[in-house]
This record gives sequence, structure tokens and C-alpha cells, in this order.
Amino acid sequence: MKITFWGAARTVTGSMHHLELAGKRYLLDCGLYQGRRKDAENRNRDLPFDARSIDAVVLSHAHIDHSGNLPTLVRNGFAGPIYTTPPTIDLCESMLRDTAHIQESDARFVNKRSERRHRNGHDAVQPLYTMEDAEKTLPLLQPVKYHTPQRVGDSSSYQAYDAGHMLGSSSVLMEADGIRLIFSGDIGRVNLPILRDPEAMPKADYLIMESTYGDRRHKDEGLVADRLSDVINRTAARGGKIIS
Ligand SMILES: [Zn+2]
Repeated sequence: MKITFWGAARTVTGSMHHLELAGKRYLLDCGLYQGRRKDAENRNRDLPFDARSIDAVVLSHAHIDHSGNLPTLVRNGFAGPIYTTPPTIDLCESMLRDTAHIQESDARFVNKRSERRHRNGHDAVQPLYTMEDAEKTLPLLQPVKYHTPQRVGDSSSYQAYDAGHMLGSSSVLMEADGIRLIFSGDIGRVNLPILRDPEAMPKADYLIMESTYGDRRHKDEGLVADRLSDVINRTAARGGKIIS
């Protein structure tokens, strides 16, 4: 087994881990890196491997820093299955189309601005990906319910557990050649309204874990609600506006 971390390592966006397991190549997530335009542009556009060499993608959840570069993978020739939970597919349908729309309008904006600045000739910026790429990506998404082992490749299997982070979010167990690897995805908090608590995971040999807030103690949920209502009441009392 070989794992290469291509994102969300020493940084918090662009989650993308390349996994070589039992003779196959998988991606765990394919997220958009969000940062300064030039930096983000290079990281997102130039995939550090051949997209056609990937056998399958396992997607932990719909947030764009985990799913948002899937259309680039498809634009570069990936045509395999993307396994994820059914609600994640529903969310990706809106979110990937929306992101494609933003990529296209961003490129239009930059080109218009450069046209104005240098009237004679400039290299037109191409969108990172287009609506067409997003539309080609959506049919590749394959629904796999929680706790339902799914075969990937010839000899690997994958199973999703509820990560309690957002609707459809999962922590993932991959298994092949007697090796068990867990990819936590983003992990939610306990006792949140609407969302279920993150599930305890089974035993594994290796664990890739989100640790964004690993060095912090979260405030009690009740205190957060109190502080929010306090901000709203104070703002309303002085005739201010609240944008959510
Ligand atoms: Zn997330």
C-alpha cells in the first residue's frame, strides 16, 4: 500500500489523497484548493498524476474542498466510478454545477478586465472547468449507503460510516489484502441539532484523520446559541442588519 497526500496536508483545503492498494489506484476525495488566485489556479489545474490512471474515487462528503475538483479530474480523462453516499450525490448535483458556473464567470471577469487594461492582445484565461465538465462528472457518482460494503477494483472493498459533519458525510473504511485503512473525512461534533453524532469506527491498521481543530476545545453548544442570540438582539436593537 502506498499513500500520497496531495492536499489538506499542512493546509486545510484541497483534500486529495492518492492511494495505491492491491494493484489499483484510488483517490480519496478530490477537493478544490481555495487560496490566492495564482496559487489555487496552479494547484487545481495541474493534477500531479495522470487522471486516466485512477481506477475509482471515494468521496467522503460534498463540501467543495473535498469534491470541487472532480470535474478537473474528468476533464483530464478520468471516467471511472466515484463512490459516495446518496445525499452527497444530491448535494454535488447543485454544488458542482454552481462551482462550474463560478469558474466560468470568474474567467469571463478576468478576461474582460485584461482586455480593458491591455487593449492589444492578451492570453485569454480558460475556466478551471466548465458546466459541461460538471455535467460529465455527475453520472459517474455511484450511491453507496452507510454500512454497505461496496467492492472497488477487483479485490478492495469500501464501507461508509456516518461522520456527523454534514448531510451525507462519511468516514471511510478501505480494505484490501488484509489491510484496513480508515479515512475519517471531516468529523462532526456530538450533540448537534439535525445531524447524527459521528459514529465510532471499527479497528484499522492505518488512519488518515482530519485534525483541523485537533488542538482546540470546542465551546459548549448552548453557549454558542446564547452568544448568537446575543449578537442578533444587540444588532436588531440598534437597527442594524444581519446577513446569513
Ligand atoms: Zn467538510
